[in-house]
Amino acid sequence: MSEKTIFQKIIDREIPAPLVYEDELVAAFHDIHPQAPTHILIVPKKVIPRVGEATPEDQATLGALLLAAGHIAEKLGFKDRSHGFRLVINHGKDAGETVPHLHVHLLAGRALDWPPG
Ligand code: 5GP
Repeated sequence: MSEKTIFQKIIDREIPAPLVYEDELVAAFHDIHPQAPTHILIVPKKVIPRVGEATPEDQATLGALLLAAGHIAEKLGFKDRSHGFRLVINHGKDAGETVPHLHVHLLAGRALDWPPG
């Protein structure tokens, strides 16, 4: 069996990280190196290495990630359009993926540039 990712260890409570959201399929916690005043990682409990490797069986999990993002954004007050938030998923080296466990970045709390770097 391959070694657990850092995110799997957080989900399994082997590494302490306060969860900002949890349901049957996903968990969310603050990024250790925030790139915005609010930077949360939303992670499936099932290990899917990266988004392009998800299968039709993962449809509910993929939906749960985006629904969780909406819940968290609402809870933290970023859901109104005058504030807003950005979701990012990095797949592979050129995109900047560093942890091989699918995760959605939720960034908010400042105006974000476009296009991204
Ligand atoms: P990626 O570059 O793979 O899209 O994003 C991985 C993210 O995980 C990075 O933003 C990085 O700061 C975050 N990260 C890496 N190790 C840890 C950790 O141990 N705890 C938390 N909370 N975030 C981490």
